[in-house]
Amino acid sequence: MDQAEAYVHGSWDGVRGLLGGKGANLAEMTRIGVPVPPFFTVTTEACNAYSAEGGKFPATLWDQMMVCLKGIETASGKKFGDPANPLLVSCRSGAKFSMPGMMDTVLNIGLNDATAAGMVKLTGNERFVYDSYRRLIQMFGSVVLGMPDEAFEDVLEAYKHQKGAKADTDLTAEDLKALTQMFKDVVRKVQGYDFPQDPLEQLRLATEAVFKSWNGKRAVDYRRAENIPDDLGTAVNIVTMVFGNMGWDSGTGVAFTRNPATGENKMYGDYLLNAQGEDVVAGIRNTEKIQNLGKDMPEVYKQFVEIAKKLELHYKDMQDVEFTIERGKLWMLQTRNGKRTAQAAIAVAVQMVNEGLISKDEAVMRISPKQVDAMLHPMFNEEGKKAAKKAGRYLATGVNASPGAAVGQIYFDADTAEHMAKEYKQDVIMVRPFTKPDDVHGMLAAKGILTSEGGATSHAAVVARQFGVPCVVGASSIRIDLDKRIMTVGDAVVREGDWISVDGGTGEVYLGKLDLSVPNLEEQTDLLTLLNWADEICARPGTRKGPEGYPTRGLQVWANADYPKDAKRARAFGAKGIGLCRTEHMFFEPERLPIVQRMILSKTSEGRTEALNELLPFQRADFDGLFEAMTGLPVIIRLIDPPLHEFLPAAETLREQIVEKRVARMADYINGKAVDKEIVEMEKLLAAVEALHESNPMMGLRGVRLSIAMPEIVEMQVRAIFEAAADVKIRGYEPKPEVMIPLTGTVKELEWIQPRLVDIAQKVMSEKGVTFEYKFGTMIEIPRAAVTASEIAGLAEFFSFGTNDLTQMTFGYSRDDAERNFLIKYVEEGILPKNPFQTIDRDGVGRLMDIAVSDGRKARPSLEVGICGEHGGDPESIEFCHLVGNNYVSCSPFRVPVARLAAAHAVVKNAAK
Ligand code: PEP
Ligand code: MG
Repeated sequence: MDQAEAYVHGSWDGVRGLLGGKGANLAEMTRIGVPVPPFFTVTTEACNAYSAEGGKFPATLWDQMMVCLKGIETASGKKFGDPANPLLVSCRSGAKFSMPGMMDTVLNIGLNDATAAGMVKLTGNERFVYDSYRRLIQMFGSVVLGMPDEAFEDVLEAYKHQKGAKADTDLTAEDLKALTQMFKDVVRKVQGYDFPQDPLEQLRLATEAVFKSWNGKRAVDYRRAENIPDDLGTAVNIVTMVFGNMGWDSGTGVAFTRNPATGENKMYGDYLLNAQGEDVVAGIRNTEKIQNLGKDMPEVYKQFVEIAKKLELHYKDMQDVEFTIERGKLWMLQTRNGKRTAQAAIAVAVQMVNEGLISKDEAVMRISPKQVDAMLHPMFNEEGKKAAKKAGRYLATGVNASPGAAVGQIYFDADTAEHMAKEYKQDVIMVRPFTKPDDVHGMLAAKGILTSEGGATSHAAVVARQFGVPCVVGASSIRIDLDKRIMTVGDAVVREGDWISVDGGTGEVYLGKLDLSVPNLEEQTDLLTLLNWADEICARPGTRKGPEGYPTRGLQVWANADYPKDAKRARAFGAKGIGLCRTEHMFFEPERLPIVQRMILSKTSEGRTEALNELLPFQRADFDGLFEAMTGLPVIIRLIDPPLHEFLPAAETLREQIVEKRVARMADYINGKAVDKEIVEMEKLLAAVEALHESNPMMGLRGVRLSIAMPEIVEMQVRAIFEAAADVKIRGYEPKPEVMIPLTGTVKELEWIQPRLVDIAQKVMSEKGVTFEYKFGTMIEIPRAAVTASEIAGLAEFFSFGTNDLTQMTFGYSRDDAERNFLIKYVEEGILPKNPFQTIDRDGVGRLMDIAVSDGRKARPSLEVGICGEHGGDPESIEFCHLVGNNYVSCSPFRVPVARLAAAHAVVKNAAK
């Protein structure tokens, strides 16, 4: 369906695509009876046609615009270019996805010398008319004609200085009239031609400027950052001007229907009396809190609050609205779903479920995995702040515009900030009096943003919230000297490159680096609520119908954890099991490694068993803690996997050490003394290392192959697992061990090893006099295992996809070297769509997984299937795991909350398929 068809068929997405978000919402507001000034919209298709024709107006566009202009003339009762009753319009950009401040807008189009004089007659308000006229010339100059802002700003500042005026509002009608003439002179001087007096020419040029701004640097940078496609184009809205600068019974403002930083259900915004919209958003004039409008204009405020409620109810989401009051009459100029922080997004979603506005599924779908991740990012701790205050490092407090903690070196302009972040990999805080759309590249590169001016809806605040960059605005005690490249607070002087810490949650700013700590999930009640809803969704039956009798049970999130403390964290984060405990990590601890090395070096099975007996109590204690922490939940323990040389020193290091020792003892040789005993031991070790050397160790003696070569190791491990489980059971817990055999390639390997291990398990249970549920299963990491899954499932009671190795073996890329050598280029060149070690390659690796699950379940309908490779925490891979019918995904404890949300997204998105 193309966009025009979508419009005809009434799809909201299609309408937005065609009219842009702003145009679609203006139309919708009009439809539901909200007061909107008469307008028409030039579609995104027109913009795309303009670009396609190399910057030419499409053939019939102008004629169509003229017809629509007539329409708004009729609706407003005014006439474009008619001095007796002039219609003025704005020309506003508006793409499908909101790109705040990234494209251009021109206000007051239609003013010229004649219509200005006519308006003075009509309104009797000369000051207002010339204020509007000089604004048009300035905006038209910079946006349409591409003149630098300073060309006008410098003239304005000099004039204000000469007149002793502090604010723009101090200027009289005469002043503004004079300024209008000066601005016209500036255009002639800089451009070499006059500011166009023909209103239609103004309209046409402004429309073109908006079309062109779609491909401006700001807009392109923004689209890259937000993954917005380049071919959408922008719509152009031609809207009847209403004026907030018609006197003190007029005004303009922006507001969010709930707090976009915290989510609190309280209107949040700013307004200015006797001003135009740009004054509020630019953050240049100090604004009033929206609630104060209730005192200034009680009736208007009441109407505004009602409209805001109506819009929230209509769109079922928090709205970001713009309004203007013209001589006591309220006009809504825009509404859109408000950009918000992760914290606010979660809070608002939970509130709206409780208010009966949206379903739990909708709430879960509104939150992105990135937003959950942001909630678990480090924050400053209170002790650190107290200590910094005591040490005199507190600098200032501004408006807490976008939460999160940022520590970095300060830079005073966007280019330098971006350069230092990209080229020198510095953590950067961008500091400015206020920001403009041109600064976005610096803001994106920064860890944090600090401004000395502007309010909660200023450009800096809006953009920072959207990108999740911690931000403090309006820290007015800070003086920024852009020439000297310093900022001062009282006596403190902070130079460019110095470190500061910015707390976007509280608005505080400190000198130097403050310590960070990880937030406590238990205290984040809204997030917990949302994740519990995600779990409810995940518990719905799976989408894949297995052979009859196969128990579908949705998609759970388990965790990869080796130690009890990790398991406890995983459980607190909501993991429903341990999907991978890598037992070899336990061999590396200092008191254990010498025993492991002794085991490896012994020539006989007895020697090995002796060393392993010493290791047994350590392993048993490890498993004991895991089973206790995970009582009632499955714990998959993987038997030893890596090649043994990983437990020994590198041959090269040993050789060097032996040479050093020999040199040191040279004198002893000359004296004919016995060869040093230490050297003999080292040589033995070197011989063992050399004997174990393999050209491709990752494809060598490891996993189940090692267990078959030296069964004593895994026999000890299985004994330790079952002894620990029995002890834990005796203490009243409920252990659920699942023993996992790694790197199986053929069922014959399992036939060789598994029965011996099962024997040990049963022996231990009878020795201890207890029984409990247990399973034996295998990892699917080798393509051959995947394609012979039906045989393997004859023995294995569960499969766990080791997608790190499975990706390595399927592509034939070394998982340790590929990223360094060629993989990044492959992705850049589009040879691979994504890094397959991060996101499952659905066509290749995924195909093998699909075969393994279906064939495996045909052989064993109750087969439990999961994933424990790094992909288990990647949202796109999680969705794929759901599609192939996994029972669970397993990832590191810190990724569990994100994975729970991603798993729920996968279930909801694919429910109907
Ligand atoms: C895997 O290969 O995906 C896996 C989990 O095992 P390891 O990373 O330990 O090889
Ligand atoms: Mg592996």
